[in-house]
Amino acid sequence: MSPASSSLHPLSPPRRLLMGPGPSNIHPRVYRALGMDVVGHLDPEFLAVMDRIQDRLRQVFQTENPMTISVSGTGSAGMEAALVNLIEEGEEYIVGMNGVFGMRMSEVIRRRGATVHPIEKEWGEIITLEEVQKAIEDHPKSSGLCLVHAETSTGAHQPLEEIGRLTQERDLLFIVDAVTSFAGAELKIDDWSIDACYSGTQKCLSCPPGLAPLTLSPRAMEKVRNRKSPIDSWYLDLTLIDNYWAEGKRAYHHTAPISMNYAIHEALALVLEEGLEQRFERHRLNSKAMVSGLEAMGFSMSISDASQRLPMLNPVSIPEGIPDAEVRKRLLEQFNIEIGAGLGAFSGKIWRIGLMGESSKQEHVIFFLAALESVLNDLKIQGDFSGGVSAANSVYSS
Ligand SMILES: *Cc1c(COP(=O)(O)O)cnc(C)c1O
Repeated sequence: MSPASSSLHPLSPPRRLLMGPGPSNIHPRVYRALGMDVVGHLDPEFLAVMDRIQDRLRQVFQTENPMTISVSGTGSAGMEAALVNLIEEGEEYIVGMNGVFGMRMSEVIRRRGATVHPIEKEWGEIITLEEVQKAIEDHPKSSGLCLVHAETSTGAHQPLEEIGRLTQERDLLFIVDAVTSFAGAELKIDDWSIDACYSGTQKCLSCPPGLAPLTLSPRAMEKVRNRKSPIDSWYLDLTLIDNYWAEGKRAYHHTAPISMNYAIHEALALVLEEGLEQRFERHRLNSKAMVSGLEAMGFSMSISDASQRLPMLNPVSIPEGIPDAEVRKRLLEQFNIEIGAGLGAFSGKIWRIGLMGESSKQEHVIFFLAALESVLNDLKIQGDFSGGVSAANSVYSS
């Protein structure tokens, strides 16, 4: 053995239980798909894979939109694709600002030379229909409204249906970040009049990070095709990308990440085999059991109204006297469990317990509650933490 090769570490990542804000755990079928033979990106076999991906994405997005694809890149590439294609310099957009991801949308909009009219709310709160109405009246020249369906930084679940109807009546584009809700909670692109929506693969789809499901309505694509100025990105230019995805065209633009598209193809099959309604119900039930368990241990959720809380990302307040980082470190080292820390304003104040896709399972909820109890007892935290598992179990048996 040469001296150099003896220092090459073999790759051996641990097998974690991923209960943070994403990535979530991966189904063995998705791992197998990733290892399948790579073919050319214009191979007829791969073109058939792309057709099926589009068909499956439309089913999960609940849309007929022809422009429905997996963008090469993570959820943020989906965001950037939606925004850079639609937004022109000098336009105005209303943006819901109640967490990290609304702030990111406004950052992209500003960089494109457009004006942002924020609807600012406390972190953890949702944006109401009345607040959207008022913003539209205050800023009548706005071209669109941007909202985050599942605000992963806070756990807030934004209602969209009535707001969608309003944007339709006022002829505003409705742009939605569904990175965390896609395939984990109800999301109806056509019924809710959403014009552009993006997601990512590593949240409720339970695929590795690397692609961004994206859909644009015909009305949105008309705006993209009739822009006054060229699209500010060549790589994310949807008119060029459409020449590759659209049947009968198939012109080379960039090489599709073949293996990741195999993975999403399989992950979408798993979603549709389970059934959308069943999958959403599973996420609701496991969240309910998790919340019952945490409350029985004396914790409280940082969003008190259960109807405004996400089922796949459970935000719990960290009580005074519990060392945030030490608890997370012990969960990881002793139990191989990853949970999410608070982001930004919530740093040190909340934990974000993800129950996304493959991670959303009864055995994970029970194991987590038992592990948390053990860690808190080891740390000699005052309190009785013994009621979590049985409270969760009674949700499952009721
Ligand atoms: C994770 C996330 C993103 C960003 O996705 P990346 O895959 O990290 O690029 C955007 N919006 C929300 C709501 C998210 O949870």
